[in-house]
Amino acid sequence: MAREQRRALLELLQRPGNAQCADCGAPDPDWASYTLGVFICLSCSGIHRNIPQVSKVKSVRLDTWEEPQVEFMALHGNDAARAAYESQVPSFHYRPTFSDCHLLREQWIRAKYERQEFTNPERQEPYSAGYREGFLWKRGRDNGQFLSRKFVLTEREGALKYFNRNDAKEPKAIMKIEHLNATFQPAKIGHPHGLQITYLRDNSTRNIFTYHEDGKVTSGGPCPPSYLTPREPSPQHGRKEMVHWFNALRAARFHYLQVAFPGASDTDLVPKLTRNYLKEGYMEKTGPKQTEGFRKRWFTMDDRRLMYFKDPLDAFARGEVFIGSRESGYTVLDRLPPSTQGHHWPHGITIVTPERRFLLACETESEQRAWLDAFRKVVDRPMLPQEYAGKGRRGWSGDSQRPCGRAKGGRLSLFQWKPTSSINPNLGTVLEVRGGGGWTVEACGRRERLLAPGLMGALDTARWSLSLATGTFSVAPHCGPARPGL
Ligand SMILES: [Zn+2]
Repeated sequence: MAREQRRALLELLQRPGNAQCADCGAPDPDWASYTLGVFICLSCSGIHRNIPQVSKVKSVRLDTWEEPQVEFMALHGNDAARAAYESQVPSFHYRPTFSDCHLLREQWIRAKYERQEFTNPERQEPYSAGYREGFLWKRGRDNGQFLSRKFVLTEREGALKYFNRNDAKEPKAIMKIEHLNATFQPAKIGHPHGLQITYLRDNSTRNIFTYHEDGKVTSGGPCPPSYLTPREPSPQHGRKEMVHWFNALRAARFHYLQVAFPGASDTDLVPKLTRNYLKEGYMEKTGPKQTEGFRKRWFTMDDRRLMYFKDPLDAFARGEVFIGSRESGYTVLDRLPPSTQGHHWPHGITIVTPERRFLLACETESEQRAWLDAFRKVVDRPMLPQEYAGKGRRGWSGDSQRPCGRAKGGRLSLFQWKPTSSINPNLGTVLEVRGGGGWTVEACGRRERLLAPGLMGALDTARWSLSLATGTFSVAPHCGPARPGL
C-alpha cells in the first residue's frame, strides 16, 4: 500500500510544474505541503514547517502517505497553486530563487500563503502605494553605530530621503530613485534582515546600511513615535517590514523606468529594478606603480564596476574600476606577471584594461575561480552604448582616489550616457554633464563647450561613443589648459 502511494507521488513529480520547487524554482523537489498541495524543496519545506496554521509538510520519499493525501496532491500541484496564490503578483515584486537569502524566500512564502497578498491586492499597499515612511536603523557613517532614522520614499519626488531628527524639516540625504539600488546583505551587516542601499553622490557610490527595528527600543537615537511601533513586537514584524521596504523601492524604480523608457516591456524593466552583486569578498591589491606592497581590501563587483573598500561597511569606495568587454580591450588573466612581489596570498589575477593592469591576489584557489568567473561574465558580454558611461571613471589610483573630473577652476561631477527615449526621442544619445559650467569637452579633434551647470549637451552620438570607447577625450575648464584623460 505504502509503496503504491509513493509510486503515485513520484509519478506526480514528473508532471510539468511539479519538477521545480513551487516557491523557489529549485530543481527536483522531494518534499510536499499536503495542505496546500505543492511540491517544494527541502529548504522551503523548513520555512513551511514554521507556518503550521497554513502548511503541513512531508517528505515524498521518507514519510508515510495516506491515500486521500496523495489524491489531494494529484488534484492540486504546483501549476494549480501558482494560478491560485500568485494570480496578482505585481510585476515589480521580487520573486526569489533558490540562491537568494533565507529572508527573501521566507517572506515570499508567507506573503503567498499566509498573508495572501497576491490574491488580495489591497494588502499590497505597503509597497505599491508610491509613498512609504517609517523608521529604520541606519549605520552611522563615521562611528559605525546603528541609530533609528526616519525614512521617506516618495515616487512623486522620485526620491528616498532620511532625516536625522524626527522633527527635522530638511532631510539628511536625498537619494534619487534613478540611481538607487538595494540588496539584502545579512552576513555583511550582521543582521538577519540587513539591507544595503546604494546611490550616487558626487559621482561616487555611497553605501548605507539599514535594518528594521524588531520592536526593541534601544537608546542612542530618537525613538519612533508609538503609532509606528508594532503592536506585537516580534522578529517576524521586522522581517516583513524590511521586505516591504525592498519591494517599495523596486516599485518606485519600476514606475520611474516606465516613464523613462516608454516603449520598454515589463520583462525589459524588471531585471533593472535591483541588482545583486556578482561577487564580494577580500582580495589583496597593489597600487598603480605596482612596487608597493599588496594590501588586503574588501571588493564588490557591481555589474561592470569593481569597487574596493578598507572595511566592508565603508560609506564610500576607496576606488573603483570599470570593467568593459573583450572587444574594447579588457582581459582577465588567472595569474600575476612573473616578476610580481609583495603579495601574501598565492592565487593571482591580472585585469588588463586599455589604460593599465590591475594586480590582485586571492587567499584560496576557489576564491580565485569565483572572482575569475565574475570578471569573465562581464568581459564576455558586449557593451551597450550607455555602458560607456562607466568608462568616464578613472581607475583607482592608490588610496587617495577622489571622484573623477575634479580640476582647477571648477568641478565636473558626473558623466553619463543616456538613451534619449528618456529625454527627447529626436536626439541620439546625449552626454549629460553636471557640476560646474563652462567646460570644454574635446574628442576626436572636435571641441564642444558646455554652457551651464546641469546642462545636457546634445552631442554627436557616433563620434562621442567612439571617443568614450577609445578613451581619447579630455575635459578641461574652458579657460584653462586641457587636462588629459578622465
Ligand atoms: Zn524551494
